Amino acid sequence: MKTIADLRAALIAAQKLTGQSSFDRRAPASKAIPPLLAAKAEISRFIAEHGDSAEAWRLLSQAQECLLGYATARESFEKALSLSPQRSPKDLKHLVLLREYESKWKDLPLTPDELQRLGRHLSDVLATQACDHTARLTKAWLAEFSPGKQDQKLKALRHWGGYCDCEVLGNAVQGTA
Ligand SMILES: [Zn+2]
Repeated sequence: MKTIADLRAALIAAQKLTGQSSFDRRAPASKAIPPLLAAKAEISRFIAEHGDSAEAWRLLSQAQECLLGYATARESFEKALSLSPQRSPKDLKHLVLLREYESKWKDLPLTPDELQRLGRHLSDVLATQACDHTARLTKAWLAEFSPGKQDQKLKALRHWGGYCDCEVLGNAVQGTA
């Protein structure tokens, strides 16, 4: 059984690989992505099994932020604050920053119709094969059905928490639809 301390240690180890330093984050180094996704999944599982814990929601928010998922990071951070007995000025400042970055990425450069079709495609394919934790299917779909501005679209999907195909489906498509 993992403890909060285990989860934190795994997240810190993954974070060290990202090459990220400041808040306005660059995309994490590719070697950091599998351990970050794994740490994020472990933390989500911990919350599902143990119920709400301010500390666990805080860690989840941190993992989401490393993966540039500002909308989900902000939600998790708010959840952590709502479970905390008090909010420090530092926490409130952090929340403001998360909101700022979230709003920078509010507009997906995909139409709602494109997003819906991408979602249907991903859900069809992922029903028959597991996500390989890359955005391979998303990239292929965009190249074929939504040409142009690929980098911008992928970046925006990442900011919506869609780092790999299953996350594009779970966070970016279902989170915005
Ligand atoms: Zn995935």
